[in-house]
Amino acid sequence: MALIVQKYGGTSVGDVDRIKNVAQRVKETYAAGNQVVVVVSARSGVTNELIGRAKALNPQPDEREMDMLLTVGEQETIALTAMALHALGIPAVSRTGPQAGILTDPSHTRARITSISGGDIKEQLDAGKVVILAGFQGHSAEGQITTLGRGGSDLSAIAIAAALKADLCQICTDVDGVYTADPRLVPDAKKLDEISYEEMLELASSGSKVMQNRAVEFAQKFNVVFEVRSSFNNNPGTIVKEEVASMEDVVVSGVALDKNQAKIVVSDLPDRPGTAAKLFQVLGAAGISVDMIVQNIGRDGKANMTFTVPREDIYRAEKTVVESFPDEAAGKLFEANDIAKVSVVGVGMRSHSGVAATLFDALAKGGVNIQLISTSEIKISVGIDPEDAEKATRLVHAAFGLGQ
Ligand code: ADP
Ligand code: ASP
Ligand code: MG
Repeated sequence: MALIVQKYGGTSVGDVDRIKNVAQRVKETYAAGNQVVVVVSARSGVTNELIGRAKALNPQPDEREMDMLLTVGEQETIALTAMALHALGIPAVSRTGPQAGILTDPSHTRARITSISGGDIKEQLDAGKVVILAGFQGHSAEGQITTLGRGGSDLSAIAIAAALKADLCQICTDVDGVYTADPRLVPDAKKLDEISYEEMLELASSGSKVMQNRAVEFAQKFNVVFEVRSSFNNNPGTIVKEEVASMEDVVVSGVALDKNQAKIVVSDLPDRPGTAAKLFQVLGAAGISVDMIVQNIGRDGKANMTFTVPREDIYRAEKTVVESFPDEAAGKLFEANDIAKVSVVGVGMRSHSGVAATLFDALAKGGVNIQLISTSEIKISVGIDPEDAEKATRLVHAAFGLGQ
């Protein structure tokens, strides 16, 4: 008997028929003699709809109340999924994140898991029940309900799989696995049979929303091997695991697009030790994650700092910078504009040269201007005009021969 964690995302539980489909699949896994924990998301669109309603009432809703609101989405799905299983004659019981003892820090809307007791999940499984767990939620030591960041049901699934020492963790979604690029954007993208944690993490952090990046980070830390696969067929998916030597033969594994970035230029800063430290320290303290940093010194001897942030953080970033550099605030300190980020990722980059040249050449031939460049050991990213984003993704995908 194996213990299997299956996570079903928003589209997979999007309506009554889809919930019936999930129940049928869970029934098959259970009937094969396995213990099953099912982690579900809110129906697709529900979380966004709730956010929309909150913002219609208050543009900056209180984060505790936001968590109170958003956790409703998953709570609907756990109850409906349990009922669908009951209708198929399968004993099933739903549990919220707090009931499963998913303890987090108190940072509402982006809480980090601190420990997982599992509540009575083991007992329920041993009593022959399927346990349906609400994804995306936990509770703080103060007893408040918290959420784990957008896409956080992936993290709930990986974390409960680690805590229960599950034999198998399947992330069931609306595509057949992890592809060389978003298959909705690049029609000839290929499904990968396997990918390393590191590459998956870079893709997820660079905009491939097939997995939440924090979920991948958690899986890597606790060595949870997992499979991304379809909720709608039985095709083998993509195994995400520790790197093996043969993975390095592939130079580039995938291309990611993030259309939700902003480029910020903070100009006229003093060129002296401590300027960058102060700027990024205050942004970090405001919870703003910064990427792609470039510093240059103007002819006037002033430092200009260019960097990217998620688009929703522009106003918070501006407020933080203006408040932290009051002496410079009178000048043209802060400029922001929308940007898209295209990234190529592959562990093979460590040992193969020429990746940057191929990337830049593909963009040049397509007439795409590069505004910013950043590199890591296994990733190269470029910041470009959002208008060029989709064309650039397809050009780069083709240039690395990733298509079918
Ligand atoms: P779920 O609701 O199941 O969590 P998501 O919508 O969060 O599903 O993630 C699945 C989506 O991720 C796919 O529909 C696909 O459009 C998108 N996606 C982006 N990049 C990739 C990629 N490299 N491989 C597969 N899917 C990708
Ligand atoms: N419902 C949450 C969201 O939309 C969590 C998830 O789907 O994973 O972000
Ligand atoms: Mg998701």
